[in-house]
Amino acid sequence: MGIPLSTEERVAPVAAGSPTITTVCSHSSLQIFHGARAEGYRTLGICAGTPPRYYEAFPLARPDEFLSVPTLPDIVGAVPRLKAATAVLVPHGSFVEYLGPERFASLDVPVFGNRAVLGWESDREKERMWLESAGVPMPRRYATPADVEGPAIVKYYGAKGGKGFFLAKNREALDGFQPTGPHVIQEYVLGTRYYCHFFYSPLSTEGYRVGNGSLELLGMDRRDEANIDELYKLGAQEELLRAGIRPTFVVTGNVPVVLRESLLPQVFDVGARIVERSIELFGGMVGPFCVEGIMTEELVFKVFEISTRIVAGTNVYVHGSPYSDLAAPDLSMGRRIALELKRARTEGRLREILS
Ligand code: AMP
Repeated sequence: MGIPLSTEERVAPVAAGSPTITTVCSHSSLQIFHGARAEGYRTLGICAGTPPRYYEAFPLARPDEFLSVPTLPDIVGAVPRLKAATAVLVPHGSFVEYLGPERFASLDVPVFGNRAVLGWESDREKERMWLESAGVPMPRRYATPADVEGPAIVKYYGAKGGKGFFLAKNREALDGFQPTGPHVIQEYVLGTRYYCHFFYSPLSTEGYRVGNGSLELLGMDRRDEANIDELYKLGAQEELLRAGIRPTFVVTGNVPVVLRESLLPQVFDVGARIVERSIELFGGMVGPFCVEGIMTEELVFKVFEISTRIVAGTNVYVHGSPYSDLAAPDLSMGRRIALELKRARTEGRLREILS
C-alpha cells in the first residue's frame, strides 16, 4: 500500500484517546497543525507566554489548544501536562534548537520519528561519518588552511544561521587566519543549492523501496539567506566587509524549486543511501528529512548538511508540490506526518514510527 490518503468523506475526528499532534508554535507549525487537522487530529501548540497573535489570521492552521510555558526550555517541566493531553511531539528546527537536542531527546513523551537521529544531526563529525560511510558525495574537508585548494568556507560549530562563517577565495585569503572557536574548513562548492524534502515511511510497501519501507520526495526549496544572497557570494563578501558588514547565512525565507528531471535519480540515490546507512547506524530515520546540497556544473550533488526532521522549506507546499502532486493530491509534509500516524495506529505499528 502506498500513501494512505483520506478522502474528505473519510476524515472523521479520530477516536478518543488518540494522539494529539503537538509542536512548538514556530518554524513549520502552521503546516503541521493544518495537516493534522485535515486528518481529523486534535492539535496542541506549545508557546512561550501568550500564544502568538499571527495564528488568529490562519484559522485553518490554528491549534485546538495552546500550552503556555514561561520559556521554551520549561517544556521539560510540562511533561505531565503533555502526557495528560496524549501528545505526540513533532520535532522541527526551532523546537529542537530551543530545547537543545539532548534535552529534547530526554523528554518522556512520544516523539514522531526516531529521536536517536537528532544526536547524529547535531554533531558535524558524526553527521560526516554517517554521510561519507553511506557513499554520499560531500564537500572536501581541509585539515589546515595550508591544505586548502580553491575557494573554502570556514564553518563554526553551532553557528546560528551561519553567523561568522568565513568565505575565502583561495588559500592565500586564509593567511594569518585565527579561528574564534571549533570549526571545519570545507571546500566552498560552486553551484546551485537544492534542499530536498524527503519522507521515509518504514510502513509503506509500495513506491521507491528502501529498507523495509519506501522513500518519498515531497518537494524542494532553496533558502533565501541574508545578507549574502544570492549570486557572486565571494565578491559580495568583499563588498560587505569593505562596508564593515560581516556576511551571514541567516535564513529569511524559502523559494520553491524543481530539479532537472534527469538529476532526480542522483538525488533519490543519495536519499536512499542516507536512509539505508541510518538503519545500520541507529535503527533508521523515520518521517521527514531534508538533504541539503549543491549541484555543481559537473552535475554532481554534493551534500553539505542533512536535517533529520521537517524543514521550514516545506512551508511553501501547504497544498502539495510539483513532486508530491505526482504521488497524491493536496499533500503537505505536515499532512504526511498525520497520515503516517493514522496508518501506524490502524495497523498496530506505532512502535515503528514513534520513539
Ligand atoms: P550549514 O550551516 O552547513 O547549513 O550552511 C549554511 C549555509 O552555508 C548553506 O545554506 C549554504 O548556503 C552555505 N554552505 C554551507 N556549506 C557550504 C559549502 N561547502 N559550499 C558552499 N556553500 C556552503
